[in-house]
Amino acid sequence: VKVAGKGHHRFYQPELFEVIRQRRDIEQNLVAALEEDQFTVYYQPRVDALTGEMCSMEALVRWIHPQQGMVPPLEFIPVAESSGLIAQLGARVIDMVCQQLAQWKSLGLELLPVSINVSAHQFGRGDVDRVLAVALARYGIEGRWIEVEITESAMMGDQNDALGQLAAIRSQGVRLLVDDFGTGYSSLSQLQKFAMDGLKIDRAFTLELGKSKQGEVFIRAILSMAHALGMSVVAEGVETVQQLEILRALQCNEVQGYLISRPVPAEQMLELMRKRFLI
Ligand code: C2E
Ligand code: CA
Ligand code: CA
Ligand code: CA
Repeated sequence: VKVAGKGHHRFYQPELFEVIRQRRDIEQNLVAALEEDQFTVYYQPRVDALTGEMCSMEALVRWIHPQQGMVPPLEFIPVAESSGLIAQLGARVIDMVCQQLAQWKSLGLELLPVSINVSAHQFGRGDVDRVLAVALARYGIEGRWIEVEITESAMMGDQNDALGQLAAIRSQGVRLLVDDFGTGYSSLSQLQKFAMDGLKIDRAFTLELGKSKQGEVFIRAILSMAHALGMSVVAEGVETVQQLEILRALQCNEVQGYLISRPVPAEQMLELMRKRFLI
């Protein structure tokens, strides 16, 4: 919301009320949505940059509102975070992913790791390790089929014992990825302390590839440091063949983005898993 001068105040105030009202509406709707189970999970493949073989996928929650249809996560995740509902929603997502893995397993498919987004408030509660353990046990899935994506800022939050939390998650065989890397303030050496397995370079940097030399310089620097520290690197938001070619030349490990596939429902992911090579 724009900070307005005195003269503009009355023009902006109704807008502010509108925003507050919308948030309250979403919050009330979210409570009902959790009770009525209006959430589902879409999956987006991550592929080996060189071979194009799918190596894992990201789970992305979708809210299918009975009247409004699909509500984008960017509209309700922040509300779920600030209202505390994210704990319940996050647990639901973890459960749905483990259930899905069990279903694919029962179909005789070779499983691929699924990464799950864990947001700051969710992580700050300090019980993600237990939520994961419960879901894994419930569906008989091994921890190595799950990866957790967490942003730098969520890790750096001082309200939580991040190191202890991450270790507890990792002790179950779950891998840890830094999400949206480059948008926060952490250094790679700090991240090494957290024993992260890999990082996902934010889409903003992929977007610069081919446009400016800086984008390439930044990604090159990250890759060389990450690789020296034994971390694997995923580039997010790959939309063009040119971006893919540059990332290949830079020896980026994995790519994810609309060029390969949009996030798709589980049934469609099944087809992609059978196809395996996506570029
Ligand atoms: P994120 O974790 O950075 O996820 C990547 C987002 O980029 C996804 O948006 C995905 O659909 C989109 N994307 C993927 N490839 C491309 C591309 O080539 N171009 C463009 N323009 N976009 C691409 P989505 O699904 O709308 O999710 C938005 C954010 O909401 C996520 O950002 C994540 O922060 C959050 N989120 C989604 N699902 C969950 C969840 O289950 N739990 C939590 N805590 N947060 C979630
Ligand atoms: Ca993510
Ligand atoms: Ca991301
Ligand atoms: Ca994000």
